[in-house]
Amino acid sequence: MKFTKKQIDRYSRQIVLKKIGVIGQKRLLKSSVLIVGAGGLGAPIAIYLAALGIGRIGIVDKDNIVMSNLSRQTIFETNDINKKKASTAIRKLRKINPDIQLEPYNSNLTKININRILKNFDLIVDGSDNFRTRFLINDYCLKNKKILVSGAISKFDGQVYTFNFSKRNSPCLRCFIPKMPMDPDIDNCEHEGVLGTLGGIIGSIQANEVVKEILGIGDTLCGHILIIDALKLTFRKVKLNKRSDCYCNGKK
Ligand SMILES: [Zn+2]
Repeated sequence: MKFTKKQIDRYSRQIVLKKIGVIGQKRLLKSSVLIVGAGGLGAPIAIYLAALGIGRIGIVDKDNIVMSNLSRQTIFETNDINKKKASTAIRKLRKINPDIQLEPYNSNLTKININRILKNFDLIVDGSDNFRTRFLINDYCLKNKKILVSGAISKFDGQVYTFNFSKRNSPCLRCFIPKMPMDPDIDNCEHEGVLGTLGGIIGSIQANEVVKEILGIGDTLCGHILIIDALKLTFRKVKLNKRSDCYCNGKK
């Protein structure tokens, strides 16, 4: 592919970076990322990935926008209430960057549709709000050797973890959380609350990890979990070991 003048202009601040350059920017434009959840995490993830030129972005979310989303889901406006989250987010992204392909999926991710939706994307970003979806995505990405960048927020805390299942020794979500918690469908933000900025902090780090994984630059977070306490403003990177009796090691 050859850059147009507009593309050179749009992505000039990244092209000038030695670790990205023309080759790196082309790689970003050729890559595809699926974002699960157009919520507090999905909003900043989608905005940054679209703006910086990921060539194809899909967003999965079955919900409609409600008033209580607006304190953190900054891609939406007050007059978007009752509209579909995925389609509305995609419409906003089209305005941010008309140079890329965008696909909304206004549905829940289930065992039945996960392969159809995820199979054509290089990398999966999890910004979902419940453990049932998180485990489903983990198991699918593990089986299909996809890269998964996952994030979670609650109250004033957040976590980021990357699993690169194309590498043999990557741990998985079940190494960290062996059993699906009771009430796997519960949305922690709804029940425990969350400060609006947490989505921006964690979602931006997830978007940053996506770029690093695609370009193969910097140190990958794979094999670690980043734990952020926004009140104390501490960032702890903790090693996450592959458990010998985990699902990812062939155990049921
Ligand atoms: Zn595991």
